[in-house]
Amino acid sequence: MTQQKENIRSLTDAELLTFLKANKQQSFRAKQISSWIWDKGVGSFEAMNNLPEALRSSLAEHFFFDTLSAEQVQTAADGTTKTAWKLHDGLHIESVLIPGKERFTVCVSSQVGCKLGCLFCATASLGFKRNLSVGEIFEQVVKAKSEAEKRGGSLSNIVLMGMGEPLLNYENVLTAIARITAPEGMGMSPSRITLSTVGIAPQIKQLADDNVRFNLALSLHSAKEEVRKALMPIAKMYSLNELADSLKYFVAKTDTRPTFEYLLLKGVNDSLDDAKALAVYCRQFPVKINIIEYNENKFSDFQASDEKQRNSFVAFLESKNIIVNVRRSKGKEIAAACGQLAGQI
Ligand code: SF4
Repeated sequence: MTQQKENIRSLTDAELLTFLKANKQQSFRAKQISSWIWDKGVGSFEAMNNLPEALRSSLAEHFFFDTLSAEQVQTAADGTTKTAWKLHDGLHIESVLIPGKERFTVCVSSQVGCKLGCLFCATASLGFKRNLSVGEIFEQVVKAKSEAEKRGGSLSNIVLMGMGEPLLNYENVLTAIARITAPEGMGMSPSRITLSTVGIAPQIKQLADDNVRFNLALSLHSAKEEVRKALMPIAKMYSLNELADSLKYFVAKTDTRPTFEYLLLKGVNDSLDDAKALAVYCRQFPVKINIIEYNENKFSDFQASDEKQRNSFVAFLESKNIIVNVRRSKGKEIAAACGQLAGQI
C-alpha cells in the first residue's frame, strides 16, 4: 500500500524535527528547510539547493506542496488584479492585488466558498467546499508580494476579506499569519494585517485570549437586530449584544480599536434612523467605521445608496465624533471588489 504524503506546510516545526531525526538527519536541516518554505517562499523541494540530494528526495517521497497555480488573471483599468487560483485538488479560490501609490494591498481568501450565506455577497452563491490550508493562505501572500515587486512596488498590507469567514478556519488562519509575521518567516508587521469577520462572537474572544497583534474588522452592516438578521444569517446565532460583549473583551485585552465595515444598501440600512442606531452601538467601545460602497452584482438585488444619502449618513456619524472612512471599491469591472468574489472563471 502506498503511503499518503503529508502537506509540508501543515507540519509544525516540532514535527519537522521529528521527521529529520527519524531519517537520521542533523537538526540544523530543520532551520534550512523552514527558511526555504517560510522565508524564501519556495513551492518545491528541488528549489532547496543547500540540502543534500538524498534529503530532498526523501522529503519529496513523504511530503507535498499544496501550491497554487494561476488559472485566470484579470487586471482592471485602475491596476487592481484578480487572480483565480487552482488548488491542488482542482478547486478554485480568488485573491485580489490592489495597488496604492507604491504600495500594494492583497485581499486573501481563507476558505473555498463560504457557508454563511450573507445575502449581499457573491461568494455565498458558491456554498462551502473546504477550509484553505496554512500553505494555501500563506502562498496567496507570497504570490502577491512577488507580483507587487515585479511592478516596482512592495506589498504593505494584507486583508483577510476574500472568500470565506476566517474565524471558521481559525487554526490555519492564525498559523498562516504567524508564519507571515515571524522574523524567520516573511517578517511582516502584524499591524499591516487586518482580519475581517462577520462576527463569530466566541472566536473574537479567543483572538483576544490568543493575544493577537493584527487588526480586527467586523462586518456589521446594521446596528438594528432585525435588519442585520435579514442580511446575515449568522446574526441569528450571535446577537448584537453578544457581539458587543465579545468586542468589549477584545478591546480590553488587546488595547486596539476595531473597525466596523458597513455596506450602504439603498433603502435597507442607509436611513438617518440607521445612522442613529449605529452611533448608539458605537458608544460601547472605541471603534472606527468604514463605509463601503456596495458593488451591485448578479447574485443579489440590492442597490448601492445614492451619494446624497451616503453623505448625510456619514455627516451624521461624524457629528457624533465617530471616525468614518468612505471606501470606494477598486476593480469593479472585473468583479474583484468587495463582496464580488464568486470564482466565475
Ligand atoms: S460576506 Fe463573508 S461571511 Fe458572508 S457569505 Fe460572503 S464570504 Fe461568507
